[in-house]
Amino acid sequence: MKCQTVLAGTECTFWGKQGCVFPEGSCQTIAENCEGCDRVVTGSIGQVCGAYPAPAKKWIGGICNFATHVKIEIKVDDAKVNPLKASKKAAGAKKKK
Ligand code: SF4
Repeated sequence: MKCQTVLAGTECTFWGKQGCVFPEGSCQTIAENCEGCDRVVTGSIGQVCGAYPAPAKKWIGGICNFATHVKIEIKVDDAKVNPLKASKKAAGAKKKK
């Protein structure tokens, strides 16, 4: 149903017949870490997240997985592996069993 308070007119899964069913009856304003994210929208209570009602919670365990402004760096091991040798090594390991 469509929100009628913070983001009036926006489709929201938390809006039901009794109003907003999210804890405390409303979504919450963005966290400091959210600044710069494309999902930040302006609602009646200030800046809120268009993807998640409690932005601060998205940062408790690390980087928010919906964030558009922060990229997770994955370190790739530079060690070069010869695919042919790796294949032979794997085949040799199987024979020993
Ligand atoms: S997607 Fe994550 S980082 Fe972006 S506004 Fe929402 S909670 Fe904040």
